[in-house]
Parts: sequence; structure tokens; C-alpha cells
Amino acid sequence: MNKVELLGRWTREKSEDLYGIKSWGSRYFSISDKGEVLINPYPGVESAVSLMDIVSGVKERGLDMPVLLRFENVLDAQIAYLNDSFNDAIKSMDYKGRYQGVYPIKVNQQQQVVHEVTKFGQRYHHGLEVGSKPELIAALSEMKDKEACLVCNGYKDEEFIDLGLYAIKLGFKCFFVIEIPGELELILERAKELNVTPNIGVRIKLSSKAGGHWTESGGDRSIFGLNMSQVIEIVDVLKAKNMLSTLKMLHYHLGSQIPNIRDIRTAVGEAARVYAELVKEGAQMGYLDLGGGLAVDYDGSNTNYTNSSNYSVPEYCIDVVEGVMSVMDDSGIEHPVIITESGRALVAYYSVLLFNVLDVATFEEHEVPETLNEDMAAPIHSLHEVNKNINLRNLQECYNDALYYRDSIRDMFNHGNISLRDKAISEKIFWNTIYEIVQKKRELKVVPAALVELETVIADIYYGNFSVFQSIPDCWAIDQLFPVMPIHRLLEVPSRESVIADITCDCDGKINKFIDAQGIKKTLPLHPLEENHDYYLGVFLVGAYQETLGDLHNLFGDTNVVSIRLNEDGTHDIVNEIRGDSVDDVLGYVEYDSNEMKANYRKTAEDAVKKGLITAKERREILSAYEAGLRGYTYYER
Ligand SMILES: *Cc1c(COP(=O)(O)O)cnc(C)c1O
Repeated sequence: MNKVELLGRWTREKSEDLYGIKSWGSRYFSISDKGEVLINPYPGVESAVSLMDIVSGVKERGLDMPVLLRFENVLDAQIAYLNDSFNDAIKSMDYKGRYQGVYPIKVNQQQQVVHEVTKFGQRYHHGLEVGSKPELIAALSEMKDKEACLVCNGYKDEEFIDLGLYAIKLGFKCFFVIEIPGELELILERAKELNVTPNIGVRIKLSSKAGGHWTESGGDRSIFGLNMSQVIEIVDVLKAKNMLSTLKMLHYHLGSQIPNIRDIRTAVGEAARVYAELVKEGAQMGYLDLGGGLAVDYDGSNTNYTNSSNYSVPEYCIDVVEGVMSVMDDSGIEHPVIITESGRALVAYYSVLLFNVLDVATFEEHEVPETLNEDMAAPIHSLHEVNKNINLRNLQECYNDALYYRDSIRDMFNHGNISLRDKAISEKIFWNTIYEIVQKKRELKVVPAALVELETVIADIYYGNFSVFQSIPDCWAIDQLFPVMPIHRLLEVPSRESVIADITCDCDGKINKFIDAQGIKKTLPLHPLEENHDYYLGVFLVGAYQETLGDLHNLFGDTNVVSIRLNEDGTHDIVNEIRGDSVDDVLGYVEYDSNEMKANYRKTAEDAVKKGLITAKERREILSAYEAGLRGYTYYER
């Protein structure tokens, strides 16, 4: 099929397949008849909003790309989805306890996010989980609901413990989860001192392990949590002090993004057994906290691959409730309140990163001269021969030979035996050879291993106005995949195979792995840029873990953030905008003082005036450009 044929036939359905949007985004994202990405948090209601309309609204407000969109309603809908799914499972199985989730703040600690989680969570008494003193202090400022749980994990010093005990005094359901044996003594001491009865939990290490990126936090070798003999010691200490009634919670955390439901079931079964034994020991209990791990299907493959999940939220809930219930019923024990600390699953869908493409480096088709000058070096002639003899049966051989002669030519050049002009010609021949091999390779049924990924070396490079390190750090740090796609032009054929580079000019600042139903793609089909028209790409499912891990690589700071409320009538409101960092802000983080900087530069300019290098008027212009630069956005501004 040639390109023209394709052009006529490209459809919305083809874009849906190509970018997998129905698999990873079906709850909220779709493609419109106009070929634009739509968002709609109300299933069954015709109220979808085009991301392109949001882009124009954002631009009218004078906010530049890149921009992070946060959709309030999506967060609201995910909280409802998780809670309703648990409540449905509980009802259908006639489980006697209830579900009460807590949101782990570390997953996205931004004030606006925590604020919205507590606001939308209130109707389900969905609480918060904190792992440090600052997180506890933040949680206490946002938490209003006294029915919701506040779970304190992490190592706790006296100040942390006192803050938690005061929270209990104020009527909050605050739990201290013991992670190391030594903590108990301090908690009991402070509780006595402040005259508060603490709620104690124990975090255990399970012997079950799970697959996935983050599973070091679970399992026997995990650095967090107590082994069984330490748990028994805690029981004995509390017994001796006649305080076993304060032991109310069992907690474990298997790790984040557990793609396989089997691992989840095994862990639930093991923890439920420990819980039942603690009840038999005489502990009060009442709460079983299963930690995080509820996975997000980033690649839409619905498998147990790292970036996927082979179960849905309702399946997870049924398996958890069933697992807990069967152990409790076997032991004749009252059904506990089930807590999960699902973070990723609540917030991943909530945010979308949008950026414009600044430029493209296309792979040029290199013309090869019909004949070469006789006096050119031998390896150039040999390379030329290789180029002329490519056929379907010798692709691998041609590839090997081309690399060999390229290296010989490089050596000869370095020793002064080839001129720059001849080297330039040899490079053209080399790249044309690679190009021809890639074209021919497509006709092969079985592709030699060395040639499988050859497309990537001739892929176009799309330069995006964003920083991988700032906005999607996991993409760089742990090869996390996120769905990436254009948010418009989806009725046109995406004829260019591409990789995406960011503007940090760092060789790691790129996206070159893309989701694919059959695994991982090394290039992403995109549309050719059009003169005078911006081209916008979206990175989806970036609400979890990406915002706070971001670093100040090359001093690109926070992006602009816009919060959006979608209305059921298909309109939308921009409810909040947070300007990204200015140059001044990011330099401040690395201890520059903008007043001092201006003073220093003023002096440099003043000296230049004295030396007659610039006029006094130029000095004023130069200084005002410097000051405007300090105030400006760190990203590329039009
Ligand atoms: C990180 C973490 C979570 C969140 O896990 P998700 O996979 O995002 O749900 C929950 N509990 C603890 C203790 C954690 O460290």
C-alpha cells in the first residue's frame, strides 16, 4: 500500500487502534469525529470535551505550553469507582465489614490533589496515609472527616508521634503503624505523657513476593515491616502492659503496580491468616490494611506485563473481599474493616501533560552518485558496491559490510588519509544503504535479529517543548511506559515514524519506547508538521508519582498546571491555574539571588559602557532583556 492510498483511507478507527486509546483510556478518553482526543468522565452522557478546546482556552489565558491538565471529575470518578467496586463486592458476598480506603500522599503530594481527594473522598470516608512528618502535617491541614482513617507509616520520632496523638485528641481516627520494633516503646511513653490512648498497627513482611518494578518493598527481604517473631514480641509487650486492646490494625504493602492478580490473592490470604492469629492472641484488631499495589493498565494490554494489569478494579475488589472473608469464616472471626492504600489507581488518570512540537529532524533521503572518482579511497568504493547490490537475500550481509567500511573510512579519515569532502560522500552512501535496508526489510517474513530495530536509527526526531526529567521522570528512571499520542489530526495518516526528544538536549531526555498491544514499540507514528500550525502531543496517565519526583534537570522547572472541571452539559471551567516556575524561581532553588544577579550584570554592563563597547541606551535594553528573562517561563515561549 503506498502513502497516497493510505491517505484516502485513514480513519478514526485506525487511530484508535494505532494509539490503543480504547484499551488504556476507555473510561475517560476517546477520539471525536473531527479527529481530536475527547475527555468525558460521565459514561453514557454526551458531554465530552475536546482537549484542543482546552488548549485554546489555556492559550487565551496567556499560559504557554507545556501545561499539565488536571481533571477534577476524573479524580472524583476514580474515587467513586474504587469505593463503589468494593461496596458492590461486599454486598454481593454479604461481607459483614466495610471498606475504607486511604490515599497515600506520597503518590502525588500537591496540595490541590490532597485537597480534592479529601473533598471527593468524604462521602466514602476515604482517608489519607502518610509516611513522614511533613506528610502528616500536610494531611492534618486538609483532613476534615473524623470518620475517615489517617494511617501513619514510616519511621516516627517524638515530634511525629506527638502530632499523631494530638490528632487523636481532636477526634481523628489516627493509627500508628509500627515499622521497626523500637518504635513501640516511644509511642507508649508519649501516649502516657499526653494521656491519649493510641491506635496501634503492625506492618508485617510477607513471605509472598510479587512481580513488578517495586516489589522490593514486599517479601521476606523487604527493609520495611516486622517479621513474625517481632510481631509476637509486640503482642507480648502490650500484653504485659495490659494494653493489647490498642493493637487494632495489621498492615502490609506488597509494592506498587502489581500486574498479576495471583500475587495479590496470595498476599491477602497470608495476611488474613496473620490477622486471625492476632485475634486469637487476644488483640482487639478490627482493621486489615492491604497497602497499595492496585495496578494501572498503562499499555492497555490487560496482561501481567510490568506496565499493565491482568485484572480490573472490580475483579481486584472481589478477590480481596473473598480472600479476607474465607480466612475469617474458617476461623470464626468477625470480618474486619478492609483498608487499601491504593494511590496510583486513584490518581494516574487524573493528569495529562500537553506540549507542542518545536521542530523535527527528519531523516533525509541521501542521494548516492552513480559513479565515484577513481582516486577515492578503497573502502569508499567498497561501500558504494555494497549500496548497489542490496537485495532481499543479502540484507544482513550488506548491513554488516556497511558498518565495517564505515569504520574503516573513519579510521582513514582520522589518520589524515581521506578528505572531508570524501568523508561527506561516504556518509551519504552509508545512510542511503541503511535506508534501503530498512525499506527492503519490510518485505521479509522473518527479520534477522540485528535488523529488527533498525527503523529507530532512521526515525524522525520530534522535539517536544517539555522536559522528561521534570514531567515524566519514571520514563527515564525506570523505563515506565505512558500512552503518548497526538491530540488532533487523528483523521490524517500519521506517516512519519518518530521518536520524541525533549528540550533538555540531554541524550536521556527522550521518549523512545511506546506502548503496543504486542509489547513495546521503538517508534511512534506521527503526522508531518504543517507550516504555521502547532502540533500538540499528550502524555496520558501521568497523575501518579510523576509530579514530585521531577527534578530540575537543566533548570527546567514546574510546568504550568491548569485544573479543569467538566460539566455534564459538555462545557468546562478552568477552576484553577498555577503558573509554572519562572527562571528566577528555579535559580532560587539552587541558591541564586536574583537581586544580586541583576546587580552583578548591571556592573558588567556599566563597565562595558565605560569601555565604549555599548552605549548607555544599549545598556538599558540589555538589562531589561536580562530582567525579562528572569521573570519568564523556563520552557520555550513563542
Ligand atoms: C507507595 C505506597 C503505597 C501506594 O502504592 P500504589 O501502588 O500507588 O497504590 C501504599 N502504601 C505504602 C506503604 C506505600 O509505600
